[in-house]
Amino acid sequence: MARSSSPTLPSRCLSCGFEAAPGSGEWDSVDSPPLGTMTQCPDCGSTNVMNRE
Ligand SMILES: [Zn+2]
Repeated sequence: MARSSSPTLPSRCLSCGFEAAPGSGEWDSVDSPPLGTMTQCPDCGSTNVMNRE
């Protein structure tokens, strides 16, 4: 929580361009061993999501 000066950037689906803030509840998630839980686009179902930090 040391980066209070920078707002949370939205994550973006690279397949369809859907954007939503990470952790906002708009994203779906899918279990993908061995990587663990991945963010999944609720629009197109792609897990090709760019998480910006
Ligand atoms: Zn998508």
